[in-house]
Amino acid sequence: MRHYVGGGFDASGVPFPLVDPVTGRTVGEVPAASRELVDRAVGAAREALRGPWAGWSPAERSRALHRIADGIEGRFEEFVAAECADTGKPRALAATVDIPRAVANFRSYADLLAGRSERSWHTGTPDGRGALNYTVRKPLGVVAVVSPWNLPLLLLTWKVAPALAMGNTVVAKPSELTPSTACLLAEVIAGAELPADVFQLVHGQGADAAGQWLTEHPGVDAVAFTGESRTGSSIMRAAADRLAPVSFELGGKNAGLVFADADLERAVEGTLRSAFTHSGQVCLCTERVYVERPVFEEFAGALAAGAKDLAGYGPMISAAHRDKVLGHLDRAAADGEVLAGGGVPSFGDARDGGFWVEPTVLTGLPEDHPAVREEIFGPVVHLAPFDTEEEALALANAGPYGLAATVWTGDVSRAHRVAPALDVGIAWVNTWNLRDLRTPFGGVKASGIGREGGDHSLDFFSEPMNVCVKL
Ligand code: NAD
Repeated sequence: MRHYVGGGFDASGVPFPLVDPVTGRTVGEVPAASRELVDRAVGAAREALRGPWAGWSPAERSRALHRIADGIEGRFEEFVAAECADTGKPRALAATVDIPRAVANFRSYADLLAGRSERSWHTGTPDGRGALNYTVRKPLGVVAVVSPWNLPLLLLTWKVAPALAMGNTVVAKPSELTPSTACLLAEVIAGAELPADVFQLVHGQGADAAGQWLTEHPGVDAVAFTGESRTGSSIMRAAADRLAPVSFELGGKNAGLVFADADLERAVEGTLRSAFTHSGQVCLCTERVYVERPVFEEFAGALAAGAKDLAGYGPMISAAHRDKVLGHLDRAAADGEVLAGGGVPSFGDARDGGFWVEPTVLTGLPEDHPAVREEIFGPVVHLAPFDTEEEALALANAGPYGLAATVWTGDVSRAHRVAPALDVGIAWVNTWNLRDLRTPFGGVKASGIGREGGDHSLDFFSEPMNVCVKL
């Protein structure tokens, strides 16, 4: 594992172990960047802002992003293998979601940019009488990108691509638990004929380490972060001193609402997917489901049966995270009812040393129980009945988070009444995680600040500037 700083690969720094979550075994080591290396990375990225990159047109940057996408596709299997090795996720998931989405992240911003350069982005002339006004889009400068372990390449590139699209330079810090695909990305970018030092990569932990040193660095102009809400608060405090803009995609405690008029089979199937994809370690996963009382028993029975039948799921990312999830399950078992799972699976092979948790369905817990209020980020879903639409909305909207929600109903009027009334950034109706990369993506309340996706990302990663010429 290597840093990529100042155009060179470098393995300096005290190493920490890289652990395979499938078996719990140490499989490698990752060098932790020193403060000095972080300084060098930020310095090189600042210097690059004054280099040839500043003169590249949107069309040239668009072609560069396509070359990066080509580079990932050219080493597709290597990327898939690296993502699976770090996260333990099933190959099918990495090969159909993580890596193709990383490619799509570069291509979609490349396409948006190509369209922009032709559509005269630089001329907003509101009036023209007496003065000519136009708008120039400038990069923010050096952008720090700090990303989590659950969808490592997907979430890193979701920010790196639009940041580069708008002419910024980037210093990236992937999660210390999943650094491998970021290393491959640095190799791809090194070969993609971009000007020197436009992209830097440093590895390391978060607090009192590379993550913190980077986000509090006076040479960093903006911070794009995905991770826990608590980490977001500390990064915001660090950025506040120099008033650096932040874009935050944070935690969630996403609700599903199942109405009695829904196609129940589809609702069960969709909820199995929304609760247990990547063993619940996706920020958009559903952790609370409210079911209209007449269909509660039927839905709960079918969901529990489905959870017991799930095969081919992956482990938790680390021992610490597994222990956090199991702590929630212990308390939940004491205070409520476990309809499926609740424990650790036994394999009788090397996987018994890994960080596994069974897909779990809970019910009977009060709404203020930690397992119903706090983000668990594991394969755990809690079911509760409701009687009216108003009650369902109040239950879904309670709590500190507001990332995503799903509504299952056969009534089109209800769908349009309920979905916009949810206090979330994204509401799905009769589906889950269906994504169009141009749509606004983000959360409200403790789930985030700002929106990314399509034009929203291009807006965040640039400063519009007005020039006014008196005629
Ligand atoms: P985390 O906050 O622990 O870590 C995320 C990144 O921040 C890592 O690279 C880490 O090293 C770094 N970091 C940690 N402390 C830091 C500090 N003080 N200063 C600077 N950097 C620091 O999150 P995680 O455990 O890696 O990821 C899981 C969390 O991410 C969950 O809460 C999940 O909901 C959230 N998430 C949100 C979205 C979204 O789009 N809203 C997507 C994926 C994950």
